[in-house]
Amino acid sequence: MDTKTKTQTYIANTYARFNLVAAKGEGSVITDDAGRDYIDLGSGIAVNTFGLSDPVWLDAVTTQASTLQHSSNLYYTKPGADLAEALCTRTGMKKVFFSNSGAEANECAIKVARKWAADNKGADYYTIVTLVNSFHGRTITTLAATGQEVFHKDFTPLTEGFVHATANDVESLKKVVSENKVAAVMMEAVQGEGGVVPLEESFVKEAFRLAKENNFLVIFDEVQTGNGRSGRLYAYENFGVIPDVVTTAKGLAGGLPLGATLLGEKVKDTLTPGSHGSTFGANPVCCAAALSTLSRIDDALLSEVREKSAYIFETLGGAPGIESVTGMGLMIGIKTTKDATDVVAKCREAGVLVLKAKDKVRLLPALNIPFDLLKKAIGIIADAAK
Ligand SMILES: *Cc1c(COP(=O)(O)O)cnc(C)c1O
Repeated sequence: MDTKTKTQTYIANTYARFNLVAAKGEGSVITDDAGRDYIDLGSGIAVNTFGLSDPVWLDAVTTQASTLQHSSNLYYTKPGADLAEALCTRTGMKKVFFSNSGAEANECAIKVARKWAADNKGADYYTIVTLVNSFHGRTITTLAATGQEVFHKDFTPLTEGFVHATANDVESLKKVVSENKVAAVMMEAVQGEGGVVPLEESFVKEAFRLAKENNFLVIFDEVQTGNGRSGRLYAYENFGVIPDVVTTAKGLAGGLPLGATLLGEKVKDTLTPGSHGSTFGANPVCCAAALSTLSRIDDALLSEVREKSAYIFETLGGAPGIESVTGMGLMIGIKTTKDATDVVAKCREAGVLVLKAKDKVRLLPALNIPFDLLKKAIGIIADAAK
């Protein structure tokens, strides 16, 4: 059996896959099993922060893997401690809980919000406000948080205590807040799966004002927007605000599974022994990979991300067949006149891998993609959209 047939036979049928077997890669070039190269503008859905088989990343991973690959949270380990310190120092957050995915990072944030509210406001203040068109994960609770009916279908009843306000609609947020006993509001700085739609600064600022007035938490889901993707280390910096809780995963460890829930001053002591846990949490290899990744997301790289972003907006904005370009940093949504699925297929035929989000073409390249490769790929996208 070839890989495609074996996958279809033995792996649960949950993904609509492209007709491509990814075999290996280097930097922003991925090679299929027939030896054909593609420019990769998806980086494993914003995971491979420095592309494929990056030598610095690889060294961090292999060194740690050959030293101590796992020991559980029954013992202290250095990579987790170093990474938590780096995350807190870089963000001003106070403590970190490590898990293995975006959904788990959000589960932790939700548990923190519920416990903080129970400790400080009363057990009936359990409601979490999220936004329509959001995406927060696939577990039953993060599905409840996800403000898209299409994901809820067939899985009800979901965890109760989630209500949805309309993104960028202050009146809708005010109404939902006034009608519920709120523990927290949770939002993505840029709704990724929802079609790469950034929040407006005025809306974000109003959410923080309401949180202060009504004493509830603000959680930023930076699973996709985090770790340099937006052109800042974390996307909340683009709005000049500081959330109480920040969750991240995807690009954090540059290609290994790691989730982190960053806890600010208000909630740094909310979790107590026994209140939460994860067997793989703070896995040394994943943490070493993340420490290496994070240390390279410096001012120079971030300004390069913003330059590449500006290049994409300028080149594709208003180009023939392109109706809009939205997003932030190297997280970009392109609304094409043609069906996005056709544009994605055309790009693939021409040797460029791009993604889709809702009805848009979506780009999530490695942050260090070489400029010449990016230019070539953007040219191919422009041709495909014509
Ligand atoms: C991908 C994503 C998640 C879910 O992450 P998993 O690692 O797949 O569990 C949650 N929130 C946002 C904003 C995401 O983009």
